[in-house]
Amino acid sequence: MEQSFSQLVLDWYDRNKRVLSFRGTKDPYRVWLSEIMLQQTRTVTAEGYYERFLRRFPDVRSLAEAPEEEVLKLWEGLGYYSRARNLLKAARVVMEQYGSRFPADVSLLRRLPGVGPYTAAAVASIAFGLPEPAIDGNLTRVLARTQGIREDVTLPSVQKRLTDTARSLIPSDRPGDFNQALMDLGAGVCVPGTPECENCPLRDLCDARAAGDMEQLPLQPQKAPPKVIRLNVLILLWEDRVYLTPRKEGLLNGLYVFYLTEDAPSAALRRLHLSAHAGEAGNARHVFTHRVWEMKLYVCRVQSVPKELEPCFYTLDEMNALPVPTAMRAAKAVASDLLRGETPA
Ligand code: SF4
Repeated sequence: MEQSFSQLVLDWYDRNKRVLSFRGTKDPYRVWLSEIMLQQTRTVTAEGYYERFLRRFPDVRSLAEAPEEEVLKLWEGLGYYSRARNLLKAARVVMEQYGSRFPADVSLLRRLPGVGPYTAAAVASIAFGLPEPAIDGNLTRVLARTQGIREDVTLPSVQKRLTDTARSLIPSDRPGDFNQALMDLGAGVCVPGTPECENCPLRDLCDARAAGDMEQLPLQPQKAPPKVIRLNVLILLWEDRVYLTPRKEGLLNGLYVFYLTEDAPSAALRRLHLSAHAGEAGNARHVFTHRVWEMKLYVCRVQSVPKELEPCFYTLDEMNALPVPTAMRAAKAVASDLLRGETPA
């Protein structure tokens, strides 16, 4: 059973593997970088970022030496910015503790900032050829269906069962290909909802297909709906400049945002000792994993600003050079238009 499972999967992979720019390398730095980028990001999106990143940071040393703001700027638009901050921290650990070489050991890889069990196993198997199963959402789905696992896959006991099962199936000669094969199978054939069983190399081994409950698997608890936060976004304009400030904590830490407040714009302006009319400039919405920001945009032109606030105002070019998150896209577009109008041709 085990041998035929892995053989079927690998034969299918050899004929059908996705051609991706980060495939075909065993360089641990590149494998690690691509795996971090692929967390919570679609493959096509990650590819563009991966290539740009490698052009700027071709190796772990160049990344480790970069200022955080530059890394965040290159990450702009990918979301989940803690990944970028951890990327930099991990690169520095690799330089300082391992002399620029990623450790060929799954437990040491797991100690790197931002590297969880999945990423550690992916790097260990793809870059170092270690027989470590990399259990992501795709592998979970394929394994739950083929093995007929009809329990909540988020339970630790079930996660352990999935890992043990994968470990018993993974071939020692091609562990990286096996993991990637199951990822591709889960992404293209054994998809969420209705899988394409007729095109699946595992169709004759698959418990869920035999039972006809593929669409119900894997079992997962209902997710709580994301919490809605209502925010007013003040686009504060002073001469040819706009107010931006780096977030100091929580979501979007280190990224530059406009003035965000749950208070009425007039109260916020008073708090800042600014005198201005707040004109409505539309709405925007951004969905995070557990939060939704419902935003109302306001444009506030101020004639003068207190001395201590002056360094927080940036020109259009300066704004474009700062890491500004996608959540601010609508506000940034409004600010760009207005600043362009302020900039002499
Ligand atoms: S037979 Fe269907 S449900 Fe089973 S692994 Fe293949 S695609 Fe998934």
